[in-house]
Amino acid sequence: MKKLFVLLSCLILLFGLATFTSASSATLSLEELPTELREGESAEIFLSIGGSPKASSIYVELSVEEGLEYVPDSAGWEIVGGLPDFNDEKMHGTIMPNEKTLSGRIFHFTVKGKIASATARNITLTITLHNSAVAGYEEIVTVTKAVKVVCATHSYGDYAKKDNSSHTRTCTVCGSVETTSHSWDGGRVTKAASCKEAGEKLYTCTAGSCGATKTETVPKTENHTFGNWTRAKDPTCTAKGQDTRSCSVCGKVETKDVAATGHSYGDWSVTKEPTCEGKGEQSRTCSTCGAKDTKTMAAKGHSYGAPVVVTPATETALGKQTKTCTVCGKTVEEEIPMLAPSTTEPVESETAQETSQETSQETSSHETSQETSQETSSPTESQVTATPGEGTSAPAESQAPTGTEPSGNAGESSGNGGGSRGPGSVWLWVLLVVVCLGGGGFLLFFLLKKKKKKDGAAK
Ligand SMILES: [Zn+2]
Ligand SMILES: [Zn+2]
Ligand SMILES: [Zn+2]
Ligand SMILES: [Zn+2]
Ligand SMILES: [Zn+2]
Repeated sequence: MKKLFVLLSCLILLFGLATFTSASSATLSLEELPTELREGESAEIFLSIGGSPKASSIYVELSVEEGLEYVPDSAGWEIVGGLPDFNDEKMHGTIMPNEKTLSGRIFHFTVKGKIASATARNITLTITLHNSAVAGYEEIVTVTKAVKVVCATHSYGDYAKKDNSSHTRTCTVCGSVETTSHSWDGGRVTKAASCKEAGEKLYTCTAGSCGATKTETVPKTENHTFGNWTRAKDPTCTAKGQDTRSCSVCGKVETKDVAATGHSYGDWSVTKEPTCEGKGEQSRTCSTCGAKDTKTMAAKGHSYGAPVVVTPATETALGKQTKTCTVCGKTVEEEIPMLAPSTTEPVESETAQETSQETSQETSSHETSQETSQETSSPTESQVTATPGEGTSAPAESQAPTGTEPSGNAGESSGNGGGSRGPGSVWLWVLLVVVCLGGGGFLLFFLLKKKKKKDGAAK
């Protein structure tokens, strides 16, 4: 019996110990608590419990340090339970929760920033848990968090350089630090740029006594200090020359072309005289470079003297004449066109013939005229057909030379050229006899053939 009591006592002790151990795992945290609060700004904060402790009553106590302020009537329980209360003056309250196992948000309150300070202010919450089911059970848990109260409007001190790109200033009241970029001035040239070397410009931050500086390079200029142009290469008649000048500071050299002068030719002079048939040549020379310019001269052409008749022309044969160049002595042979046949008039025909011949010779002395004369006066074959009724002239092939000369009486050959002398009239007579004989023969042949036909018809 005594043994059983001891065992029971031990079990109760173990159970109580176990309950106590499990309850001691309660933790507290403050939710939605900002790290910083401006003066006059308020924040609602929630007390949350962890570790799932069991409690039949909760006692809460709140304290805030100077600089922070509890907002009256802002506290309240987040859980449902009996006799919930909170005393604003004493800053503590109690509740008997319906739900015995605690978890999550159980309490809330509002604090307000009152006095800005460089030092953070603490908020502390302490809760005491009681469990009526466990004799003597009591657990006290505390949570403390700091909040910094800062100025609604800061009272910044002077700027100070932080690094090459930014500076800072600090509030003399709450210690807040503001970081911004340097504000550079327009810069000051500390080393002037030239065409030889780049320059330097120093910029200084204008914010308070920050004093930060930076240097930037100024590129080289193109403002050279050139001397006078000097002739580096003389131009020639055909090639460009060159002028140069250089910068006395950086030595840069500039060049420009000088135009070629062109040739300076003298007058034209004949270097080869033209001949009757050969071309001549003229030339001129540049007085500067000796270049030669040439051009050809046309041949002069022959200057022929008066033609000399070698063989006179007749009515039936071409004549021949020569003419000689008075300059080079070249002799050319020419034909004299045939004479036009003489007319029947005894005296007139002779004179006409002579005139005709003279004219022909005169005109043929001219080269062009002679050519035309030769062409047109060439003998042409023409058939002169006689009318059958006229007995005296029989149809015969006759070579009748026709001349273009107006004095020529071509075509009128009527057989009786009495009284005309000279070789022309003799040939005319011979021709007439031949024609008459031929015509007579033909007539005889014709009559005999007709008679034969008649005899045949009579038979
Ligand atoms: Zn401040
Ligand atoms: Zn600065
Ligand atoms: Zn220069
Ligand atoms: Zn020249
Ligand atoms: Zn000649």
